Amino acid sequence: MHDVVIIGGGPAGLSASIYAARGGLKTLLCEEKLMGGQIVLSYEVENYPGFPNGISGMELIENFTKQAEKFGVETSYEGAKSIEDDRECKSVYLTNGSCIKTKTIIIAAGASANKLGCPGEKKFTGKGVSYCATCDGAFFRNKTVAVIGGGDSAIEEALYLTNLVKKVYIIHRRDRLRAIKILQDRAMENKKIEFIFNTIVKEIQGDKLVNGILLENRKTKNMDRLAVDGVFIYVGNTPNTKFIEDLIKLDENGYIFTNENMETNIDGIFAAGDIRVTPLRQVITSAADGAIAASAAQKYIESKL
Ligand code: NAP
Repeated sequence: MHDVVIIGGGPAGLSASIYAARGGLKTLLCEEKLMGGQIVLSYEVENYPGFPNGISGMELIENFTKQAEKFGVETSYEGAKSIEDDRECKSVYLTNGSCIKTKTIIIAAGASANKLGCPGEKKFTGKGVSYCATCDGAFFRNKTVAVIGGGDSAIEEALYLTNLVKKVYIIHRRDRLRAIKILQDRAMENKKIEFIFNTIVKEIQGDKLVNGILLENRKTKNMDRLAVDGVFIYVGNTPNTKFIEDLIKLDENGYIFTNENMETNIDGIFAAGDIRVTPLRQVITSAADGAIAASAAQKYIESKL
């Protein structure tokens, strides 16, 4: 029987595992893919305190992981398929069919990048369509690319791409960006970036590789073809809560409701990070959530002794 099983190895899950294991809890961290979640796709994290010159998402997560290992966190590279609550004994069913018994669970499975859903997106994924500028930007050196979206991710990644490519079009469906002002200002000042507002992508076109996108102006309904070699899509995220939706209370967008102790509607089951209803989704808030959830799990276990 574990004291705590943590589902998800992003900043929230890793931070929870550090606090839980350091607090003496028998801790298992389950991550089905790579440790780190979405932040490993970030070329540079410049707002996590303690790194005045910024740090890459990958390096930051390597540090989190080393710290977790130091305190003896057990890890499993299996995803969670479902969870069951039998009061003091909870079960986590993994993708390999095994069942882990635990006193508490911390759900920190994060969120996944949304798809645009237009024709050509699926066909050209990996052939000019990408969701990760840090991973794929280098393929487009001195070429022309489009970034779709107007949030922090779109603008930050567009700025990163200007270090590599000849030109970046940022295509946004409204006339105002959602991204924070400092990023907006940097993008507006960058000579390699051109904004196309009030516009949606109707189709991603190409032969073997992407060679253009069909755009529609939402106001005039005019259609235009824009020649690009690559399309980077940053149109928000969906929480990874499908596997717990029958048990845990979610909001209308699928995010988990918690209180300030990261408690969900089920005793002994906690949630942390991007997966929960929260006013800010950052590495620092996820890490803080993880710490609070682990401490609350420890108090819950002690209350049952
Ligand atoms: P986001 O804030 O949800 O922004 C998604 C963008 O995509 C919005 O501009 C949205 O348009 C647009 N969009 C959504 N669906 C679309 C569709 N079907 N077609 C065209 N455009 C569509 O997502 P995000 O930028 O990935 O950020 C997620 C969270 O991470 C946010 O809380 C953000 O602050 C945080 N984040 C922080 C940093 C940082 O601090 N350095 C970096 C990256 C992300 P509308 O604006 O019209 O809705």
